[in-house]
Amino acid sequence: MYKATTILLLSIAMTIFLCCTSCNEHKTTSAIDDWENMSNKDDGDDNTDSSDSTDLDTKSHFNIRGIVARWSDVSNPAKIDYIQIAKDNGINTFSIHNADRNSLVWQNFAEKCEEANIDIEYQEHMLAYVLPRDLFAEHPEYFRMNKNGVRVNDANGCPSSKGALAEIHRNAIEIARNYEPTNNRYYFWLDDGGDICYCDECENYNASDQALIFENEIINALKEINPDALLAHLCYHNTVDAPSIIKPSEDIFLEFAPFTRSWNAPLSQTWVKASGSSLSHGDYLKALKDNLKIFPTETAQVLEYWMDVSLFSGWDPGNLVKIPWDNSIFLDDINTYASLGIKNITCYTAYVGPDYVNKFGDISFLEEYGQGLLNYKSK
Ligand SMILES: [Zn+2]
Repeated sequence: MYKATTILLLSIAMTIFLCCTSCNEHKTTSAIDDWENMSNKDDGDDNTDSSDSTDLDTKSHFNIRGIVARWSDVSNPAKIDYIQIAKDNGINTFSIHNADRNSLVWQNFAEKCEEANIDIEYQEHMLAYVLPRDLFAEHPEYFRMNKNGVRVNDANGCPSSKGALAEIHRNAIEIARNYEPTNNRYYFWLDDGGDICYCDECENYNASDQALIFENEIINALKEINPDALLAHLCYHNTVDAPSIIKPSEDIFLEFAPFTRSWNAPLSQTWVKASGSSLSHGDYLKALKDNLKIFPTETAQVLEYWMDVSLFSGWDPGNLVKIPWDNSIFLDDINTYASLGIKNITCYTAYVGPDYVNKFGDISFLEEYGQGLLNYKSK
């Protein structure tokens, strides 16, 4: 009897101990710890992706949770420590403008990103670099014809020019060798706001078709140096409409950037049209759906502006404006994107740097952004 009682008491004590340990773990483990420790868990949840339980991202709907920033925004960790913010909140991709990539400080930054499993990529308007403007004197036929029938070198080029495509092919390889992303995702966007070619051979191509002719050439070039390369087709400005004739190479992914939407209302309010915009939220969503009929959904990506201080400040760093961040709008938007199958989201944080911290202090939107994407569950 004594022995049985002792065993019973020991058993109860062990149960209480185990329970307390478990409760303790539960109480002290944050969502962030859950994310960081995910590789040690095998909790048999209902995740349908059984491919690799060690993948930190298997629990998040969103594979890419990125930001697009300037080097001056991210290079002063004493003021704003982007790497720590990313680690704490599940942000896993940085696109960085204007870093001196030969500097020690950059190399140190890149190493820390690698240790934190943060990918580095380079999102940029590139046509002027792969088709240098100074070729115009010798080869005006490489460049676009304006609506008056005159060749001009103000932007982009003539995608029907074999010579232009050869030049673009050669230069894309050269540039890609110097700007190697860690996630195989390359960006050679058309010139920002640039018009297209109206020559006889191009007249049936819309802007997205013309972009795709360049992009199909560029992805072929990139494959010569990186068989895993993927290339963005930026759906933005005059390329919002889906291509009508040209088909994308299978390794071109859609990048949807709703530049003139309103950030004061979610995209799900389809009737909203921002002041000065020709497109309502409904128009943008229709364009996204149309594009997703042509580009793969799995690799498609959204480039948003919820945290783009440069946009809200009119690109004047001397007149920084507090961003109109509204977490409920952001969460509604990512639900809209997820409902269309989007799994990759990145957002400008240009001008969210040391000066922004000095002026406004609060940068908790970066945490809400990362956590919102990390913890998103489809409704
Ligand atoms: Zn043309």
